[in-house]
Amino acid sequence: MNNSKIWLSSPHMGGTEEKYVQAAFDTNWIAPLGPNVNGFEKDLETYLGSNVQVGALSSGTAAIHLGLILLGIKAGDEVICQSMTFSASANPIIYLGATPVFVDSESDTWNLCPISLENAIIDRISKGKKPKAIIAVHLYGMPYKVDDINNIAAKYNIPVLEDSAEALGSYFKNKKCGTFGEIGVLSFNGNKIITTSGGGAIVTKKSEVKEKAVFLSTQARDNAPHYQHSEIGYNYRMSNICAGIGRGQMEILDNHIQLRRKMNNFYANYFNNIEGVEVLTEPNDDYFSNHWLSAITIDSAKTNGKTREDLRIAFEAANIESRPLWKPMHLQPVFEQYPYYGKKVSEKLFENGLCLPSGSNLSDEDRKRIQAVLDDFFNVKF
Ligand SMILES: *Cc1c(COP(=O)(O)O)cnc(C)c1O
Repeated sequence: MNNSKIWLSSPHMGGTEEKYVQAAFDTNWIAPLGPNVNGFEKDLETYLGSNVQVGALSSGTAAIHLGLILLGIKAGDEVICQSMTFSASANPIIYLGATPVFVDSESDTWNLCPISLENAIIDRISKGKKPKAIIAVHLYGMPYKVDDINNIAAKYNIPVLEDSAEALGSYFKNKKCGTFGEIGVLSFNGNKIITTSGGGAIVTKKSEVKEKAVFLSTQARDNAPHYQHSEIGYNYRMSNICAGIGRGQMEILDNHIQLRRKMNNFYANYFNNIEGVEVLTEPNDDYFSNHWLSAITIDSAKTNGKTREDLRIAFEAANIESRPLWKPMHLQPVFEQYPYYGKKVSEKLFENGLCLPSGSNLSDEDRKRIQAVLDDFFNVKF
C-alpha cells in the first residue's frame, strides 16, 4: 500500500491559480500592488458580503498587528485574548507593548467563554484598567458564540478584533465569519482553507479604516513627491504574485469547504460508534463551520485508558500527521506571567484533544489508511 505522508492540512490548488500568476508576469506587475491584489480584494468582499471592505496583507499576523493599531492599542493598554488559540493571535499585543489578558473557552464551540469574558472585564475594570479590545477566535473554523460575545462587548463598549484566520467560509446565522468584529482578520497561510502561499487580510465596514490599513502597510508614505513620513509604517502589503494564487483559490473555495465537511462527516460517522470519543460539531443550526480541521476529544476513562497521545503515536507510525489541539496561551512559557481568567476548559481540551487529517485533497485511499489506524487502535472488528 502507498505509504506517502498524509498531512493535517496541505495546500490544494484548483488549477486556475497559474493563469493569474502568469498574467502578473505578462504585465510585469511583480510588486506588492497590482490588478491581482485589487481583484483578490474584490473577490473577498463579494464572498463575505455585508458591505465589507478588505485590505490584502502579507500575513494574518500582520493583519492582527495593524488591526490592533487601528483600534488605537498603545503601550501599557490591556487587550483580552482567547487563551486557546495559535500564538499569532496574541503576539501582536506584545509587539505593541500592551498586556494580554487571557480568557478561557467554553465547551460547545471551544472558543471564548462569555462568562469568563465578563468576569475578566469586571475584574480588570475594578483594578483600574478597562481592556481596550477583545480578540475572539473561530477555532478550527467553528464560529464562536457571536451574539453572546457581541452583547458583552457592546455592554462594556469594547471593540472586538475577530480572528477569522481559520474560518473563511464559516457562518453564524447566515452571516459570514470575518464580518462580526469591529475589525476582522483572515489568513491565507499554506495550511489554511485557501492559501496564497503566505498572506492575510483585514476586514472592515469603514472605507477610511481600509485606506488607513493600506497606508500603514505600505510604509506610511505621506502625499508628497519625495519620501515623507509623519507616522511609523510597515511593509505588510500582499504581493501581486500571491494575490494571483488567491484569485484562483477563490474559484474553488466553496467546493473545498464541501470536501472538508465531508472529512468531518467521515469522522462523525466513524466515532458515532466509539465510546469516549467526541467530534467537534456545530452546537445547533445557527452555526456553520468550514471544518478547516476536524478535531476530537478522547475521554481515556471510557477508552480503556487509551489517550490522545497514544492515538497520535499510532498515526505517526503509519506516516499520518495528527496534532494536539492548540496549547492555551496562559500555559505557554512566554505568556505565563500574564493574567488569566477561567476554569480548566481549555486545559482539559488541550489534554484530551487531537486534530485529525482534514484536507480537501484527501483521497478514498487516504481515508482507508486513516480508518485502518483507527480500527486497529479502537479494536474495531468486522
Ligand atoms: C494562522 C493563524 C493566524 C496567523 O496567520 P498567518 O497568516 O499565519 O500569519 C492567526 N490566528 C490564527 C487563529 C491562526 O490559525
